[in-house]
Amino acid sequence: MGRIRILSDEVANKIAAGEVVERPASVVKELLENSLDAGASELRVEVSGGGRRLIRVRDDGGGMLRDDAMLAFERHATSKLSGAKDLLSIATLGFRGEALPSIASVSRLVLETRAREEPTGTRVEIAGTKMLRSEEAALAPGTQVTVRDLFYNVPARRKFLRSEQTELAHIASLVTHYSLAHPERTFLLTSDAKELLNVTPVEKLRDRVYQVFGSRVLEELVDLGVRERALELPSEEPASRIFRLRGFISRPQVQKLNRNSIFLFVNRRLIRDRLLLHAISSAYYNLIPPACFPFALLFLECDCEEVDVNVHPSKTEVRFRRQSFVHDFVRDALREALIESRPVSSIPLPARPQPAAELPYSEFSQRVENQSWPEAPSEIPPEAEEALPELSLHPPGPPVPRLDFSAGAISLDEPTLRLHVPDTHAGFPPEAVAEPSASLSELGELRPLGQIYDSFILAVGRDGLWILDQHVAHERVLFEKILIERAAGSVEMQQLLMPLIIQLTPAQQVDYSRIAGELHALGFETEPFGHRTIAVKAAPAGIGAADTEKVIFEILEIAEQELRKTSLDDLRRGIAASIACRAAIKINTRLDQGKIEWLLKSLAATGCPMSCPHGRPIALRYSLRDILKGFHRIS
Ligand code: ADP
Ligand code: MG
Repeated sequence: MGRIRILSDEVANKIAAGEVVERPASVVKELLENSLDAGASELRVEVSGGGRRLIRVRDDGGGMLRDDAMLAFERHATSKLSGAKDLLSIATLGFRGEALPSIASVSRLVLETRAREEPTGTRVEIAGTKMLRSEEAALAPGTQVTVRDLFYNVPARRKFLRSEQTELAHIASLVTHYSLAHPERTFLLTSDAKELLNVTPVEKLRDRVYQVFGSRVLEELVDLGVRERALELPSEEPASRIFRLRGFISRPQVQKLNRNSIFLFVNRRLIRDRLLLHAISSAYYNLIPPACFPFALLFLECDCEEVDVNVHPSKTEVRFRRQSFVHDFVRDALREALIESRPVSSIPLPARPQPAAELPYSEFSQRVENQSWPEAPSEIPPEAEEALPELSLHPPGPPVPRLDFSAGAISLDEPTLRLHVPDTHAGFPPEAVAEPSASLSELGELRPLGQIYDSFILAVGRDGLWILDQHVAHERVLFEKILIERAAGSVEMQQLLMPLIIQLTPAQQVDYSRIAGELHALGFETEPFGHRTIAVKAAPAGIGAADTEKVIFEILEIAEQELRKTSLDDLRRGIAASIACRAAIKINTRLDQGKIEWLLKSLAATGCPMSCPHGRPIALRYSLRDILKGFHRIS
């Protein structure tokens, strides 16, 4: 007898379940996708115990016919595909016919469904692949799936679940993001009878973002509008295909330490994709520091034939037919939007103390946070908890320095001690208090007041006070100048009085020979000078002889990192940033009025005046509203 055996259905189902159902949120995802495929306009999700005890998804979609309700639990039973060629252009979210049997095999599941065209519905009860009951039932059209005791029969899987709060946060994040992808539908999420999300149909994505995150978050985002690019197909019909991108991305001052705030949808399917992540990073290259990530909510739409979604059992990965086209389209679209918006950082306010946790920021995440949690025995020590998916936008970084009197002898906490602030001045006109969208186009009109510490330029604008970092401002000006001159082949060089001899390591020697041409184009005249040694005869204008050696080493280091993973374009930008940094006005440098005015004007003329080539902000603005808030004139 041979050694190979066919696995029983029970085992095969559990294997498939392991791929499809990783955690409670995966169940929610599959059920939501089914409801969306069924054309539901209202989706209600109810969970209990972070989804371990109960997950129930109810929809008002097309429902299932009696016979289909039973068939749906067979593996690979689907109404969404008929032949292999359909796999080439999948327009539904589901297509593998694996979700229902997989979920049923690791839980106690009840399906209640009624198709519009049948007078009554069907109730099917299943526990771990055993069909317990199937009966006719009086039901409203639509479908409700109730999943209890997830992984009750797979202890190994149960062990890997995180705390109820973490699992709930994953579910909440998922439902929220699906609701963002479908603004025209109603979504409701309750957890242990508490409402976490309740959004009614709206016309625009922007309105949905507002419903979910609130106005404060919206202020920190750039609306992409609709951006399109046509892919020309020389030998096919039709001759071109349109790729469309919509969504919101954060202004460069919002910097996240991980990718948890990036949500990508391709044809309204939530996915993870390295190609798109890379496109996003490239768009923010030189705008935010290299180790940081933005918030992004992107919806890419394209012809179904341009993207293969049948890559992974949980359907969270895709493969694009034309990868570099998609990558460059997304990168350019984001970059354009960022540059058009010319956002400016506002000075963080010494506001009322923020809770230590990062999460509560939008009303929505506040609700998630406010839930009370039963003491669930968690097998995983708290420090091993993974990061919650972030629903908030909060620039990380050092805490805002604020005057803290709490440790002192005087405490104003007693309500009786709180003094009334007399309103001795007339109110401000409401338009002064309204937050105009801060824009760097105001830069050209700023009136300089002077410098702080010979390092930061202070200036007055139409609406408030501005502080600019003179070094990074000049760095931005030079960076763009160098790139423009490089493109025109006219980088300014200056001859060194004496050639500078630089000794290289073997690795540096290799990098040097690869980038020598680019170095020359950017203003360094170098030539080999014996064994692992080069002579530098000229350097870009503005770089002192003393700095030349440092820049060269810096550039070789960039070359070592960049050549492995990025394009020549990125390398060129890296080198230009390095030169700009060395040549820029230093901090602790006194500037006269004329020089300050020149700097502000030149900065205003740059394409991207919001941050330096290394991603640090250039200007901070203290708006009138911030000032009023700071003086407690408005709240
Ligand atoms: P898939 O979605 O890949 O087809 P599933 O196992 O998720 O596979 O679902 C199997 C089938 O059950 C679907 O093809 C669909 O016909 C039916 N179905 C599942 N959920 C619903 C629902 N909420 N409303 C209507 N039909 C559904
Ligand atoms: Mg499905």
